[in-house]
Formats: sequence, C-alpha cells, structure tokens
Amino acid sequence: MTQTTTLGQGYADPALHAQGLYIAGNWRPGSGIPVINPSTAEVLADVPDASVADALRAVDAAEAAAANWRATPARQRAEILRRWFQLMTDHAEELAYLISLENGKALTDARGEVAYAAEFFRWYAEEAVRIPGEFRHAPSGANHILVDHDPIGIAVLITPWNFPAAMATRKIGPALAAGCTVILKPASETPLTAYAMARLGAQAGVPPGVVNVLTTTQPAAVTNAMLADPRVRKLSFTGSTAVGRTLLAVAAQTVVSCSMELGGNAPFLVFDDADLPAALDGAMIAKMRNAGEACTAANRFYVQAGIHDAFVAGLTERMAALQVGPGIKAQTQVGPMITKNAVSKIDHLVSSAIAQGARLHTGGKPLPGNGYFYPPTVLDNVPTDADMAHAEVFGPVAAVYRFETEAQAIALANDTEYGLAAYVYSGDLSRALRVGKGIEAGMIAINRGLMSDPAAPFGGAKQSGLGREGGVTGILEFMEPKYYAVDF
Ligand code: NAD
Repeated sequence: MTQTTTLGQGYADPALHAQGLYIAGNWRPGSGIPVINPSTAEVLADVPDASVADALRAVDAAEAAAANWRATPARQRAEILRRWFQLMTDHAEELAYLISLENGKALTDARGEVAYAAEFFRWYAEEAVRIPGEFRHAPSGANHILVDHDPIGIAVLITPWNFPAAMATRKIGPALAAGCTVILKPASETPLTAYAMARLGAQAGVPPGVVNVLTTTQPAAVTNAMLADPRVRKLSFTGSTAVGRTLLAVAAQTVVSCSMELGGNAPFLVFDDADLPAALDGAMIAKMRNAGEACTAANRFYVQAGIHDAFVAGLTERMAALQVGPGIKAQTQVGPMITKNAVSKIDHLVSSAIAQGARLHTGGKPLPGNGYFYPPTVLDNVPTDADMAHAEVFGPVAAVYRFETEAQAIALANDTEYGLAAYVYSGDLSRALRVGKGIEAGMIAINRGLMSDPAAPFGGAKQSGLGREGGVTGILEFMEPKYYAVDF
C-alpha cells in the first residue's frame, strides 16, 4: 500500500508520491520523520522511521531475493536497468520537481541531476554484460590461472541529501549490474526522491527484495545492526568524512568490504596565462552547481598575482547577478541551503574569515525570511589559516587566495586532509598537466568547471574516500574476484 500526500503541483504520475518503508516489494506506510521544504521551512511530508527490526527484515528480503538475482542472466539484469533509465528519463520533470522541493536546489540543477542520475542506469546496463575475467599461465608452468568475478553479496547503500537521485543510482546501478541485492538508506532530509525511484524500479521490473529502501532517525543503530549481520558483505557510503571514519570502524568488526565517497575541499587554480572569461565560466559552474552544496565544489580559489584582481572583479560581478529564491521558481538560479544549521555554519565561516582580515566583495550575511537562504558571496585576502581554508564550506561562498609561483600553488592545493577533486586553468596544457600530477586528488579538471561523468571513475584520495564509483571499475566494487588454479 502506498501513502500519498499533496506535495504541490507538477506531478503527472501519482506513482511518484510513493512513501513508506519499501521491503520485499511491499510499501509500509508510517510516520516519524518530517520532511521539510528548505525554501519555506514548511513540512512537506511525514515518512516512516525504520527500527533495527525493520532493518533486519530488509536484510531477510535482500537475502531471499539474492539467489535468483545473481542467477538472472546479465542481459536480463541489463534490460531492467535500461528500462529504469528510460522511466527516469520519461519522468524527468516530475523527479526534478520532487528533488527541488525536498532539497531546495534550483530546478535547473535538479534537471541536471536527474539526467546525470539516470545515466548511471544506462551506463551499468551496458557494463552488466561486460564483467571482466582473466586467464593466465602460472609462471612456474605448473597450472593455469583463471579469475572470475562473483557478486559480493548483500550491499548496504547509504546516501547524503545533496544529490538524492544521483548518489543512489551511482550505487544501485553497479550493484544490480554485478548481481547484488541492496538496502538503500537515503538521508532523512531527502527520502521522497528515493521512494519515487524505488517505485520506478519496480515498474522497470526489479524483482521484490532486490532493492529495499529504509528511512530512519537512528542511522547508527540501524546500520550497525545490518553490518553486524554476516549476510551483509558490502557497505557503500557517500557522506561526510567524519561519519565515514565511524562506519569504517564498525565495518571492521565483521570485515565488511567498504567503498567510501567522503568530503572534499577542492582547490581551483587559475594561472596568469589562463583564458579569463573561460576561467570565470568554469569557476561559476565549479562553485555554484547545487548552490555550492557539492563534494566537488570549488572551495578554495588560488589565483596567480597577475590575474588575481581581474578574476575577483569578474567573479564578484557574476555572483552578485545570480537570482536567489525558492528552488521550484523558474527564475531561481540559487536555491536555499538544506537546513538552518547549514546557514549558521556558513555564516560562522564567513564572519570569522572577515574578522581575520578577509575582504568581502558581495553577499556575506544570511538572507531574511522563512527559508534557509544564504547569498552568493565573494571574499579575497582570506588568510590561509582561516577555518574556511580547511573546512568544507558547502555553500555559495567563493574564498579567493593569491599565489605567486607554481610550486606555491601546488603546496597550497595539497594543504588539506581531503583529496577528492581539483581544477586547474592555464593556457599551457603541459603546465596544467604537470600541476595536476602534483596535486593529491582523485579527480582533476583541466580548463573545465565540471568533471562528473558516469563513464569516468569518481572518487577521492587521502581522507576523501576509498574506491571509485562509475566508469569501468565501479562494478568491481560490488564483486569478489575468485581465482581458480586449474591443471588442464
Ligand atoms: P552525513 O555524513 O552527515 O550523512 C550521510 C548519510 O549518512 C546520511 O544518510 C545519514 O543519515 C547517514 N549517517 C549519519 N550518521 C550515520 C551513522 N553513524 N551510521 C550510519 N549512517 C549515518 O553527510 P551529509 O551531510 O548528508 O552530506 C554531505 C557530505 O557528503 C559532505 O561532506 C560531502 O562532501 C559528502 N559527499 C561526498 C560525495 C562524494 O562522492 N565523495 C558526494 C556527495 C556528498
């Protein structure tokens, strides 16, 4: 049974109102988690709060579905994922509207997210039929080495609120392609998108129990119980580094395989020889996609002395011209932050940087009203020991720092525990590649403001994570290599 609420105009298909714990193909309505619209601070829906017992029922469901799913021919699994891609594409407007309502992001960002999210199903539909193997001769000549890949087993998938559709499909796509059954625990702030996606998955032909969805106010208790269950063999987590560290310690108890997509603190380097308008276009995308609430968001702008003042002036003009407003309003370019706390954290980082000597060019104070709005903000002369230089700002704030030499730029870029993404703008490609080589990060964008692509390996170095999602290797995160020593 499906519980529905009125979430406003914009839905063609009532299936997208799906709410409830989704276990073994059944919807169980309930309440206990209010979902807030960050544009208005109003309650959009009240969704069920799963207990530890519910979580273990979800593991039972994933276990009951596992044998059939792993035995389902890869071509058939691929076709189900391809149909899910098509259904997401057919419902793109409704999904974008739903994401915009519960997350707050501007509709244009939400549309971009739906297209990106759906692509993971198309990509892994294509990869499901290309799972690699290996055949070698043992160097001793004694035998042959055959390497196969088995589905790793039941996977627990935990996702954040900032990309409620894409962070889920980036895990579900490869897991299902590999032959695993899953339990998805979306963030409590944005559960409605996860329910809607599960509903579309069932329409696409995903059998009951292959994908289960749990929302809970006790993520630690529920996750710890699932990780303690020996039937669970995989944890794929996207979220903050702090929670990732805690989960790695929990997973160590049962030696569960972990993939971790954690926080970022991306440097954006602009050299004197860069094409300034192109660097400004790239900076706006790298900073303002999702209003800065992205793990890959440019967090520290390092600009060489010769181009620094022109860059700050250009960035200020573009940032000040952006329209801030409710996500679902057509003209909005920058929606609200996810919560009131998020606004307070950004406000603290900005005011303390200013107190330490940073110069404010635009923005700089939370906006009045019921929603959680913070304006596009530009600061320069930010001290490198300001909290802002080391924390993830996760908001529409561009902090600009000046540098003189290439070596100094690389050292500044690496002065962080994070290593997810970095951006380099230079008219000299060999310099850009040399600098990229010096930066300790999993992903480097050269003369581009966007690097995310389902066909590329997404993930971080240092304390930004373990493993990669997307690309040709993403599916292997959900597989266990098995070696056969064969004597012919
Ligand atoms: P978060 O770590 O607070 O929460 C992420 C998820 O973990 C949520 O579903 C939450 O309910 C759950 N959770 C929290 N505590 C838990 C616990 N003890 N046990 C199990 N689950 C728990 O992060 P957030 O605020 O939702 O998301 C923002 C963070 O996510 C940022 O740091 C951002 O950089 C990161 N992020 C990383 C990537 C990436 O691919 N590397 C992508 C998006 C977001």
